[in-house]
Amino acid sequence: MKVSPSDTTIAARLAAVRATIAATCARVDRPPESVTLIAVSKTHPPAALLEAIACDQVNFGENRVEEAIDKIPVVMAQTSVPLTWHMIGHVQSRKAEAVVQQFSVIHSVDSLKIAERYSRFATEQGKMLTILLEVNVSGESSKDGFAAAHWENSESQKSLWSDIRRIIDLPGLQVGGLMTIAPIVETLEQVRPVFSAVRRLRDALAVDFPQANWSMLSMGMTDDYTIAIEEGATFVRIGRAIFGSRS
Ligand SMILES: *Cc1c(COP(=O)(O)O)cnc(C)c1O
Repeated sequence: MKVSPSDTTIAARLAAVRATIAATCARVDRPPESVTLIAVSKTHPPAALLEAIACDQVNFGENRVEEAIDKIPVVMAQTSVPLTWHMIGHVQSRKAEAVVQQFSVIHSVDSLKIAERYSRFATEQGKMLTILLEVNVSGESSKDGFAAAHWENSESQKSLWSDIRRIIDLPGLQVGGLMTIAPIVETLEQVRPVFSAVRRLRDALAVDFPQANWSMLSMGMTDDYTIAIEEGATFVRIGRAIFGSRS
């Protein structure tokens, strides 16, 4: 999707994104409320978030811990609206405690080790955190996430399934589903098989681990969110189409 020119307001861009989400849902016979829009506010100042909040935006995504722990309290001090903060970026172990303090949904759980850290701090802080498992189904080596390119092969499935079994049993965490970042592609349609593979993996996990909730699929960004919705996304994470390009 094309990013609107920089002279368009955040309100106008947000309205356009919401309209596109609704139109896409209508086209594939999904209720519009089955897709939650996360405004990805990384690199943007509190004033930009407050503009979006004034348009009833309550879900925000940040990907860098340092930036988020400075920004979140500033934004929260300037609004009485309850907001939901989504961590969408890779987190180093030593920053897990700060993430548990500030965020209520973590989309980027990419190892058993980081899940164990979150569990420990969530338990200490008396919190229940919703986590999504980030999966890499395209096999790109530059990507974070559980290696899941060959999950249908029983050998590679074994180690993935064993990590997931242990994560599901961790206290303080509630698995909600899967998250993925699509690879860079030449033509947009090339991301469709990636999103549908994530959905099929989710369906397989729901059969093998019925004790957990697998309803959430976090996939789709500015360039590819309509395809992600067509393939079953329940969270779309959108930055540039709302806030403009990042410097
Ligand atoms: C930055 C980011 C987004 C948003 O990307 P846009 O292309 O600006 O919509 C979504 N997900 C993750 C994990 C990101 O880091």
